[in-house]
Amino acid sequence: MNLRRILVTNDDGIGAVGLNRLARAVSAVAEVFVVAPELERSAMGHAITMHKPLHAATVEMEGVQHAWRINGTPADCAKLGVEALMPHRPDLLLSGINHGSNLGRDIYYSGTVSAAMEGMFLGVPSLALSYEGDDSGGLEWAAAFVRWWIGGSFFVCPPQGVLYNVNFPQIAKGQPAHMAWVRLGRREYSNDFQRRVDPRGREYYWMAGRAQDVADEPDTDVGAVASGSIAVTPLQLDATAYQLIPAHNLLEVPTNFDRPLA
Ligand code: MN
Repeated sequence: MNLRRILVTNDDGIGAVGLNRLARAVSAVAEVFVVAPELERSAMGHAITMHKPLHAATVEMEGVQHAWRINGTPADCAKLGVEALMPHRPDLLLSGINHGSNLGRDIYYSGTVSAAMEGMFLGVPSLALSYEGDDSGGLEWAAAFVRWWIGGSFFVCPPQGVLYNVNFPQIAKGQPAHMAWVRLGRREYSNDFQRRVDPRGREYYWMAGRAQDVADEPDTDVGAVASGSIAVTPLQLDATAYQLIPAHNLLEVPTNFDRPLA
């Protein structure tokens, strides 16, 4: 498809290797605008900045046309890029490439996914991109894959209200044979807080939980990446449990419900 302008953001910060490799790779297929947090903002979810000003400073990034660093969150970067910094709307938003996978319930903590979701809210076709490792060779390989994929005539943007969450397996597993379209799997974390004592004698806690992929069926993102495939999961916002909405969905509330009990 014909992509003119691509907005690239992330949650690992403007200095992250994954962002740099992605932005440089896709500069070959479109005009690229990088808008990224000045510091690492991983696991911030969809936080936005409301009570202090956001500053956008231009940054030189070799091989990339436009780049800014922002003192805000990943979602801030997506909003600011689309609504303030770019002269025209982007045809595509790419968030990543994250250093580390975003599988299963990670999507609710991930700044990488939230930036893509913000793009989706703004009506921009958006992809969240994550790599299972953090070696520069693997990140570069994933970036080259993205350039090949979005540059191909077979690439179809996610429709309105949907984003694609893409997870790359570690390159050490070898060349993936498949790009697997899969549902979210179950990745849970052991709540393993370490209790320590600070120099002033106060106790503090440090989260040290590990991912536990409790279900890795092959039709899930967890299972696909575990077997060395590139996992693509279309995500949408609506989390309504429709089966729990009764057919008669209006319940009359009595006017006296707040009277003291006899
Ligand atoms: Mn991150």
